[in-house]
Amino acid sequence: MKLHEYQSKRLFAKFGVPIPQGQVASSPQDARRIAQELGGPVVVKSQVLVGGRGKAGGIKLAATPDQAYQVASQILGMQIKGLTVKQVLIDQASDIQQEIYLGIVIDRAQRRAVMMASSEGGVEIEQVAQENPQAIIRVTIDPFLGLRGYQANQIAMGIGLPREQFREFAKIANGLYQAFQAYDASLAEINPLIVDKDGKLLAVDGKMLIDDNALFRHPDLAEMRDLDEEAESEREARLAGLSYVDLDGEIGCMVNGAGLAMTTMDLTKLFDGSPANFLDIGGGAGADKVATALRIILADPKVKAVLFNIFGGITRCDQVAQGILAALDQVQPDLPMVARLVGTNEEQGRAILDQSPYKLITAQTLADAAKKAVAASKADIARA
Ligand code: GDP
Ligand code: MN
Repeated sequence: MKLHEYQSKRLFAKFGVPIPQGQVASSPQDARRIAQELGGPVVVKSQVLVGGRGKAGGIKLAATPDQAYQVASQILGMQIKGLTVKQVLIDQASDIQQEIYLGIVIDRAQRRAVMMASSEGGVEIEQVAQENPQAIIRVTIDPFLGLRGYQANQIAMGIGLPREQFREFAKIANGLYQAFQAYDASLAEINPLIVDKDGKLLAVDGKMLIDDNALFRHPDLAEMRDLDEEAESEREARLAGLSYVDLDGEIGCMVNGAGLAMTTMDLTKLFDGSPANFLDIGGGAGADKVATALRIILADPKVKAVLFNIFGGITRCDQVAQGILAALDQVQPDLPMVARLVGTNEEQGRAILDQSPYKLITAQTLADAAKKAVAASKADIARA
C-alpha cells in the first residue's frame, strides 16, 4: 500500500523527523483558510500516489492566502499521470539551500534494510543511480543493532554535510529507520530532505510503501488507503479474499493456487496466447468465492475467452463447478470457456458442468486446456 506524502510525513514526524507545518485541503476555500492560519508563503502540493508531481505542475508556491486559493483551484481536479488530484497539502514554504535524498529499502539479497543517501536530492534516485552512481551512499542496517551512530555519521560525511549538522542528520536518519520498522514499510523516503537558509534540516517530501501482508498489524494505516490506487476489480477481489492482478491479455484465468496460476499463465504464453489476469481463488474456495472471481473476470472487456484450471485438493471440483454455474447464471456470458478440473470429485464436477446450458470446452491436461483457450480467444477475435 502506498501512502500519500502528507501521511508519510506525519508518520516520520512521530519519530522525531522535522516536517513543515501544514494541513490538507480539498477545496480552494480550505486552502486559503489554512494558508491564513500558517501565515507567510506556502507551497500547495497535489496529493496523488505518483512521483514527479513537481515537474507535472502539481506543486506551486503561493505568497498570499488569496494566491493559495488560486493555485489550489488550478491543482485540484488536475490529472497527473492518470490520477485526479482530490486533495492538496498546504505546507509552510521553505527557503531551500540544498536538497538531499534519504531513503530506506529492503535489499532482498542481503536480507537487510539498506539506507541510501545522495547529495543530489529532489531528483529521482533511479536517475541518480543511472547517471551518477558514485553519488549514492549505502549503509546496510543490522536488524538486531539498528542504525548505529557511526553509520549515520558515515552517511552525513558521504553526502558532504558539515560536522555541525551531523547530530541533526543522525536524529532524522534514526527517526526514518524507526518509522520504517514500526510500520513494516518496504520503502521509506525523504526526497528532498532540505537544508534551509538557517542551516536547518527539514523533510519536505515523504513517501512510504507498506507491506500489505503486515497491514493486519496496523489497522490505523489500513484506513489511510487511497482507493484510487487500486483498480475497481482489484479492490473487489481483495475484499473477497482473492489474489487478483489485472494484466493486458485476452484469456481470463481462474485458477486455485498461486503456483498453478503462474504455470497456467506460462502455458498460455507458450501457446501464443496472453493472460488477462492472474487470479488465485485459493484453497477451499466455495461456490460464492468462485462466482465473485468469475464476475470479476467477465467484467473485464479485454477478456475473449475464459480458462478454468482447477486442481481439486482441498477445493472440491464439484463445489467449483457449482460456483461456475452460479456465476454463469448471474452474468450470462457469451464467451468461449475452457475448463480443466482434476482431483477431488472431478467426475462430479464435470457432470455438473455438462448439465450447464452454457457451452464449456473441456480439457484433460493443462497443455490441452491452454491450447484450447488460446484458440478460442483468437477465434473470437477473428469473429469480432
Ligand atoms: P515530487 O516532485 O512529487 O517529488 O514532489 P516534492 O515534494 O519533492 O517537490 C518537488 C520539488 O519542489 C522539490 O524538490 C523542491 O525543489 C520544490 N519544493 C517543494 N516544497 C518546496 C518549498 O517549500 N519551497 C521551495 N522553494 N521549493 C519547494
Ligand atoms: Mn520528491
